[in-house]
Amino acid sequence: SKAKLFDENSEVKTTFKDVAGLEGAKEEVQEIVDFLKNPSKYTNLGGKIPKGALLVGPPGTGKTLLAKAVAGEAKVPFFSLSGSDFVEMFVGVGASRVRDLFKQAKEKSPAIIFIDEIDAIGRARGKNAMSGSNDERENTLNQLLTEMDGFGTNTNVIVLAATNRADILDSALMRAGRFDRQIHVDLPNLTERKAIFEVHLKPLKKAEGLDIEFLSKQTPGFSGADIANLCNEAALIAARKDKKAVEKQDFLDAVDRIVGGLEKRSNLFS
Ligand code: ATP
Repeated sequence: SKAKLFDENSEVKTTFKDVAGLEGAKEEVQEIVDFLKNPSKYTNLGGKIPKGALLVGPPGTGKTLLAKAVAGEAKVPFFSLSGSDFVEMFVGVGASRVRDLFKQAKEKSPAIIFIDEIDAIGRARGKNAMSGSNDERENTLNQLLTEMDGFGTNTNVIVLAATNRADILDSALMRAGRFDRQIHVDLPNLTERKAIFEVHLKPLKKAEGLDIEFLSKQTPGFSGADIANLCNEAALIAARKDKKAVEKQDFLDAVDRIVGGLEKRSNLFS
C-alpha cells in the first residue's frame, strides 16, 4: 500500500475564533481569505494574487491551526502535507507527490495547500551533496519551485508553509512570486495566554471561581499547544482523584508535570 503523503479536507470547520491571540497574524491572513473568496475583485484591477506565505514561529504556536482557519473562513478545501514525510523517500517519489498535490489542488480551486515543516524539504541546496536522500530532497524542492512558478495568476491556489527555521531556508523559496510574505507567529504573552486558556477551558468541568489570570501567570513560555495539553492533563488528574470538577490544584500539578517534561526536553539539547 502506498503511504499517504498528503491529506485533503473539503469541509474544514476551523475558523478564526478557534485561534486565540495572534491578532496581527490573523489580520495578515485575512487578506488571503479575501483573495480566495473574491479573486476577481483583485485581478480586475490588474493585481496579482500572491501565491504563497510563510508562517514563521516556534513549535506549537498555532501555525497549522491558523492555516486551517484560513481554509475554514474562505470555505475552500485544505490540502496538507508535512515536509518531514519526504525525508525518507525513494528517488523520484517526492517530486511526483508534489506534482499530484498541486494537480489535485488546482482541480478543486480555490484551495489552500499547507506544507508543515517546510525546512525538511526547503533547506538551502548544495549542502551534504554526497548523500542520496539529499538528492531526493533537492528534487522535491525543485518540483515545488516549478509548481509555484507554473501556476498562472488566476489559479486561485495559495500555498501556506510553516517553519521554525526561516533562516535555513533556500533563498529561492523566498523570491518574488513564491513565499514572498512572512507572517510571524510567536509565543503568546500573558494576555494571549488568557485567550488561549478561554478556548481550551471551555470543554472542561471547572471548579467555581477558577482564576484564568492566575493560570496565565503560572505559564510563561508556554505555547498554545502546551496550554491545550495542560488543560487536558489537569482534567485527567482531577478524574483520577474522582473529583466532580477540575480545580486550581489540578492545574498546578499539571504545570509541574509539563514543566518537568519541558526541562527534560531542553536538557537533551544543552
Ligand atoms: P508545530 O510547529 O509543532 O507543527 P504549530 O505552530 O503548527 O506547531 P499547531 O499544530 O497549530 O501548532 O498547534 C497545536 C495545537 O495547540 C492546536 O491544535 C491547538 O489545540 C493548540 N493551539 C496552539 N496555538 C493556539 C492558539 N493560538 N489558540 C488556540 N489553540 C492553540
